[in-house]
Amino acid sequence: MFDKLHEECGIFGIFGSPLNKTTSYCYYGLFAQQHRGQESAGIAISDGKQLHYYKDEGLVQDVFDSKILSFLEGHSGIGHVRYATSGGKGAVNAQPILASGITGQIALVHNGNLVNTKVLREELIAEDVNFHTSSDSEVILRMIIYYMRNGQKLVEAVKMTMSRISGGYSIILLLENRMLAFRDPHGIRPLVLGDLEGIPVLASESCAFGAIQAKLVRNILPGEILDISETGTKSHFIKPLSERFCSFEFVYFARTDSDIEGANVYETRLKMGRELYRETHIDADIVIDIPDSGTTAALGYSYESGIQFSKGFYRNSYIGRTFIKPNQDMREMGVNFKLNPIVSHVKGKRIIMVDDSIVRGTTMKRIVKSMRDAGAKEIHVMISSPAVRHSCFYGIDTPTENELIASHKTTEEICEYIAADSLHFLSIDGLGNATSHVGLERCYACFNGDYIVAPHVNHTEIVETMVQLEIL
Ligand code: SF4
Repeated sequence: MFDKLHEECGIFGIFGSPLNKTTSYCYYGLFAQQHRGQESAGIAISDGKQLHYYKDEGLVQDVFDSKILSFLEGHSGIGHVRYATSGGKGAVNAQPILASGITGQIALVHNGNLVNTKVLREELIAEDVNFHTSSDSEVILRMIIYYMRNGQKLVEAVKMTMSRISGGYSIILLLENRMLAFRDPHGIRPLVLGDLEGIPVLASESCAFGAIQAKLVRNILPGEILDISETGTKSHFIKPLSERFCSFEFVYFARTDSDIEGANVYETRLKMGRELYRETHIDADIVIDIPDSGTTAALGYSYESGIQFSKGFYRNSYIGRTFIKPNQDMREMGVNFKLNPIVSHVKGKRIIMVDDSIVRGTTMKRIVKSMRDAGAKEIHVMISSPAVRHSCFYGIDTPTENELIASHKTTEEICEYIAADSLHFLSIDGLGNATSHVGLERCYACFNGDYIVAPHVNHTEIVETMVQLEIL
């Protein structure tokens, strides 16, 4: 539909809440993170003796009804919303995933993506480990269980697994009377700890805490393993590596009301808009957003430039699952099912039009044309991120490099392709300035190709990482 990168997953966990409330907390915690994945949803609950779960394809509100929620009763739970990339689509790859360990059942939810799934999966298969899905998440769960079967205690098994898996991951494990949360040693994907009147809560984003009246406590640190049980919480660590928090969380993925790594997403996007004006100084009659992905940066541009912000598009958000999208013919005829220009407002005006990113360029071309057809005098497109030239391998669904327009066209050529009067991408330095208050160093790999973990890791590199982590 829209030409955007997609977040892969959102996760949630709560330990030791009242029996009749745990599932509702999971439901609302996932609902608040629906923007992180819309293809499947699932919840696993522990009643202290056994884990129960339900998962299916669809939005949280479609997967769960009050009858399903009523049979999921327990004191602790984890949940997951998914946008599938690694391992493919379908209910079988929905999460949580469950397996039996030597101490009982274990359920796992995972946000991120491993770059060495294939090699680890082959190793485990050679050790007679069976798989039920094609996902990297199952590799993680089976590896933890493998190490436990070979004599390691749970935390040690997690440490051993973390030393072997490469990529971006934030994970929550649920056992019958225990919960573990851990984050990759580069801190690529987010994971936050909250407090609900003394009850520990975990989520990808703090917006999930607002939904259940919990308070944000802190971020789970890169390389941290938080062990939660009836006796309290305890942190263990593997050695953290060079920090690389995903800068795109601030550009687009995260909700504007979330605080991540000490920075509020809304405030950070305003800064990106301000940086855009500082880099361009283009004058115009109005600043408009492409809703909703460009809204906050457009406000930032307006505040910095003094040019009035106003709405240039009506956005139709009443699109359900059965909506029939325009086919190619209809698109070529100009059918615009989601955004429609407010003609009387934009006609004859010089317009600054702000969005967060350009991926393939096809949607932006259509949007510029619709604004031109509405009579805009000048259209200056401002993008609040650098040009996306490379694929992400750490849990974000990106097209191949060939499909990314900026990987094979210059900014001038893209400007010509989308038929704008001018086009500007925020520089990497500008994004660095706008995110300088974020608590961790940031990843810019999809902009500059500087991958902290090589996209395809082999055996030798795994061993090198184990040495770096002081596991060997
Ligand atoms: S490559 Fe881009 S999308 Fe992926 S983690 Fe890095 S900044 Fe985020």
